Amino acid sequence: TVNRVNRLNRYSSSISKYGLQFNEKLMGTGKGAQQEQLVDANHDGRLTFDEIVQVLEFGQSKYNSTSEDIVEENMDFYREVYSKKVTEPKFAKLTYNVVYDETGLKRVLTKDEYPRANATMLTLVRNKELKAIVHTIRQIENTWNHNFHYPYTFIGDEEFTQEFKDTVRRHCSGEVYFEIIPAEIWKKPSSIDPEKEKAGIQKLIENGVQYADMESYHNMCRFNSGWFYRLEGLKKFKWYWRFEPNTDYYCSIDYDIFKFMEDNDKTYGFTISLYDDPLTVESLWPVTLDFVKKNPQYVHPNGAFRWLTDSVQNPEYTKLANGYSTCHFWSNFEIANMDFYRGEAYSRWFDALEAAGGFYYERWGDAPVHSVGVALFEDKSKIHWFRDIGYHHAPYKSIPNSDKCTAPEDSGYFAPEDVHRQNCLPNWIKYEMTHKELQQY
Ligand code: GDP
Ligand code: MN
Repeated sequence: TVNRVNRLNRYSSSISKYGLQFNEKLMGTGKGAQQEQLVDANHDGRLTFDEIVQVLEFGQSKYNSTSEDIVEENMDFYREVYSKKVTEPKFAKLTYNVVYDETGLKRVLTKDEYPRANATMLTLVRNKELKAIVHTIRQIENTWNHNFHYPYTFIGDEEFTQEFKDTVRRHCSGEVYFEIIPAEIWKKPSSIDPEKEKAGIQKLIENGVQYADMESYHNMCRFNSGWFYRLEGLKKFKWYWRFEPNTDYYCSIDYDIFKFMEDNDKTYGFTISLYDDPLTVESLWPVTLDFVKKNPQYVHPNGAFRWLTDSVQNPEYTKLANGYSTCHFWSNFEIANMDFYRGEAYSRWFDALEAAGGFYYERWGDAPVHSVGVALFEDKSKIHWFRDIGYHHAPYKSIPNSDKCTAPEDSGYFAPEDVHRQNCLPNWIKYEMTHKELQQY
């Protein structure tokens, strides 16, 4: 009864809907535009596996259609989008830390008065990163948390030193919690076959994959992918804002970001979207498709399928990753609802990932895992690009054009030119954002 898969307009005819003066040439990046098949965002039907494959086939036929120009065209597009002056999100409910009394006088709510969302700032960190984490806490406080005093949770795989605890406490304006990961969660599971692991790591090393033979890095990726939200100390929270040592926050934000997520029905928020090293995730997509074949009911009909399967800018990545574009939200910054991960779709899929062992046989990152999960199993309208948060984790930056930002470079700067190819945000904007979402800032 439901017409499940609709053929929508080509990009070229939908550009004008964006109401922005984008050069048509910048938008059209090859034949993909004509092959566009999307799922009707308004229907609530479920997709069959055949239909899922149909929408996921978007990138497959264009493995060889690349050109060096595409990277620069996409960067031009990126800079054009960033040239727009942004303030706060429009058509959204925003909450501030002030009240007005009967006479209209404004009063700032104190830490004890302000009713916070059920949320925590969150970082996995080591004692040796104390200075680097303080560097970032100060910026988060200065740009945002001094208004709201959200709590912080510091997660470690080893006890934190007294110096670490005392020092971070001095810089956090909210409550501070320390949570140590039980060894049985942090350590490599006994189900991992040592021979297979050795061979896998050897292959990663030969291909020059970073952190290939660093076991703690594999532990970290697996933990961040599917375990942190199950820790005792995190069970009480719904929302988290992940931050990392030595990252920078450039823009003042006056409204409550967690309440923005909650009140505007968002699940996941990001600032930067990148391609990944396909050799780290060679089997992630095949394992996922196998899961989806058995469980098509979990795939959201309004998933971000094209961003997941694009093969225009980096066709060889999609090929090496067996159909996955490798596009992901860069998870060293993320704001999300942990109940999504705790839900049936993500949990069962994560069990399938664990069974496949790719956190150790390959080097699956938590960024592609969160991203594939949220892009397949959640409504893409619940994924929010924070255009107003200026952010830096080396070597990439997101610098808004806003009076509230102080960054060393101009807005629209992304990274050194030799890594421009890694930028996947243009795809997110072109393939997945609606007209209204683009107008939100
Ligand atoms: P990269 O950004 O992918 O290069 O990786 P990072 O070295 O920044 O690690 C990602 C996050 O995990 C950071 O917040 C690190 O502090 C943290 N991290 C990485 N390895 C470990 C570890 O062995 N123990 C703990 N406690 N944290 C770690
Ligand atoms: Mn990092």
